[in-house]
Amino acid sequence: MAWEIVVGIETHAQLRTKSKMFSGASTAFGAAPNTQACAVDIALPGVLPVVNAAAVAHALRFGFAVGAAINRRSVFARKNYFYPDLPKGYQISQYEMPIVAGGTLKIVLPEGEKTVRLTRAHLEEDAGKSLHEDFQGMTGIDLNRAGTPLLEIVTEPDLRGAKEAVAYARTLHALLRWIGVCDGNMQEGSFRCDANVSVRKAGDDQLGTRCEIKNLNSFLFMEQAIEFEARRQIEVLEGGGRISQETRLYDADRGETRSMRSKEDAHDYRYFPDPDLLPLVISDEMLAQARDSLPELPDARRGKLVASYGLSHAQADLLTASIETSNYAIAAFEGAPQARWPDMANWISGPLSAKLNESNLDIGASRVAAAELRRLAQKVEDGTLSGKMVKDVLDAVWAGEGGVDEVIGKRGLQQISDAGAIGRIVDEVLAKNAKQVEDYRAGKDKAFNSLVGQVMKATQGKANPAQVNEILKARLTR
Ligand code: ADP
Ligand code: MG
Repeated sequence: MAWEIVVGIETHAQLRTKSKMFSGASTAFGAAPNTQACAVDIALPGVLPVVNAAAVAHALRFGFAVGAAINRRSVFARKNYFYPDLPKGYQISQYEMPIVAGGTLKIVLPEGEKTVRLTRAHLEEDAGKSLHEDFQGMTGIDLNRAGTPLLEIVTEPDLRGAKEAVAYARTLHALLRWIGVCDGNMQEGSFRCDANVSVRKAGDDQLGTRCEIKNLNSFLFMEQAIEFEARRQIEVLEGGGRISQETRLYDADRGETRSMRSKEDAHDYRYFPDPDLLPLVISDEMLAQARDSLPELPDARRGKLVASYGLSHAQADLLTASIETSNYAIAAFEGAPQARWPDMANWISGPLSAKLNESNLDIGASRVAAAELRRLAQKVEDGTLSGKMVKDVLDAVWAGEGGVDEVIGKRGLQQISDAGAIGRIVDEVLAKNAKQVEDYRAGKDKAFNSLVGQVMKATQGKANPAQVNEILKARLTR
């Protein structure tokens, strides 16, 4: 019997703001515990929350980016529960009236594209952190994170299996970074996903009972956790058991999910509108500003790279991994010979990105500037460099030997494109390799490649390969 795995994802994205959702305290990561928690964050009596306009602008930008409806009037609610890292005894969130409603995200799967429906995205504040490891027999509380602005983004149960869920999470992660609303740093917890997983028999139209797996902070763990959880549920059901709706934790060391608590229902939280905050009303101006500050979106950028720059879809995908990469590519393309654009795309996603990875640098900090990549393309186009020489020059520029022109000069890298000079070398090689010439004439095509190789070797790789081919053929067929 075939089972279908159904997944819905809830993502908590920390919004890129200097100060917190409802206070002026800093959101910078990594400060000494409790040095960035102000009177509002630690819930001293008598203080009042004030909405952070930058967080609201980020939420609006996200709404536009996924084609969602913006609720011009949304409401902050109190979600009541007790936990030591939640000093107020409630989290300020949005419940019945979120700021962003609906929208879709397109994901690319091996079998084609799929549109994932979003339910909503709402603003809320993060809780503090409980430190279980640093204090023997005690728990430490760090309230630096308390009040950090979050956008919680919820999907419909549209994803089928672990691979699709990961594709969605990766696409969302890239989009949030692209539009600049979240830094996406998963080690620091800026992007955290909960996966709701259920299974049902293929063809059923009712959803099965779900379990929610909390705080998956890497794509690998997400995939493993969903796979494990689906298998567990199938085993329970095939053994005649029932799934109880619960919240589970993924234990990465053991590769399994574990029950944490039975699932609480919304009514357990006693949601009610926060009397300290007025409804959030979005003005025309805020809407227009959010829309105007949105960069060209990844889909549009991908389309442009294919339509206007002649790249393949695969190349366009690679170059749109981040907005910085695609900006770099376009800056390099502008003014470079059009025929070389596809080559340049390969240089960026090949040797250049290898260098960036090696040095753990973002493309914004590339030691080969876009202008140098353009120069490289010009030097290939005018025949100075062969395609084979590109990587060496790129590596030399990266290593600080100078710009492209300087490296070519210093290293004497001029490609030999003089037909007379190549002809003389070809004659020498032919004279020394009578056996291969004979083989070639006897129909062994491999012998030709060996002769080309000898000519390239004799010129230390500097001979123009196209000319070598041409001249060799001419000599051998006369
Ligand atoms: P809560 O806020 O209590 O976690 P929601 O109803 O908002 O619950 O749903 C949270 C997530 O669970 C959504 O992403 C939704 O698509 C997903 N979901 C709901 N029902 C199922 C199900 N039966 N199987 C898998 N995912 C589900
Ligand atoms: Mg939930």
